[in-house]
This record gives sequence, structure tokens and C-alpha cells, in this order.
Amino acid sequence: MADRAPRLGDVIDDYCPRCRLLLNHDVTSLYDGEPAKVTCRTCHDTHDYRHAQVPVKRKTRKDDKQSLLEQVLATMPRPPEPAPPPLETPAKKRRDLWAEVERIKGSKKD
Ligand SMILES: [Zn+2]
Repeated sequence: MADRAPRLGDVIDDYCPRCRLLLNHDVTSLYDGEPAKVTCRTCHDTHDYRHAQVPVKRKTRKDDKQSLLEQVLATMPRPPEPAPPPLETPAKKRRDLWAEVERIKGSKKD
């Protein structure tokens, strides 16, 4: 890879704090031969160049919540099994109805 100094307008990978992803950025400002400001090509947010460093994910409250939820769920009784389907399905009912009609027809002939 050519190790040339970055120039304005160069497309470089950097971490976008808005998109929270490593994305293509335009170099919009240089300082001491290094990109100082970059603009995300996805959300067009301009921010300090982060040297493509994805911030280390801190143990967020969300993770704590998740584990707490899991703890609570572990202590709770299992949800009841889904109710079995009704024994008399519509199809069966329809069949019975036709059987009934046939029976009535048969009895009328008599
Ligand atoms: Zn972005």
C-alpha cells in the first residue's frame, strides 16, 4: 500500500460516531500531514479523525439490564405450554354437517 500523505478529499476508513460503524470518510481537514477532520460519506457528519479506531465497547447499562432480565427470567416459572388446538376443527364440523345432511336426505327418502 502506497504510504503517501493523505490529502484533502481522500477517502479513508474511519469510525463514524454517528453511524457507529467503520465507514468511508472524506478527509476534510489536515493537520501536520494527518487527517484532522473527516466527513462520513454515509451520514455526512464531520468529526475528528479517529484513526479508524473503533471505541472499545464499555460494559453498557443495556448489558447489565440484559443480564438482570435473564436473572429474573431464570427465577420465573416457565410459561404455560400453548393450549392444544380444539378437538373439533372447522373441517371436522363441516364434514359432520354434510354427514348430517346426508342422514336427513336418507331419512326423507324413507
Ligand atoms: Zn456516519
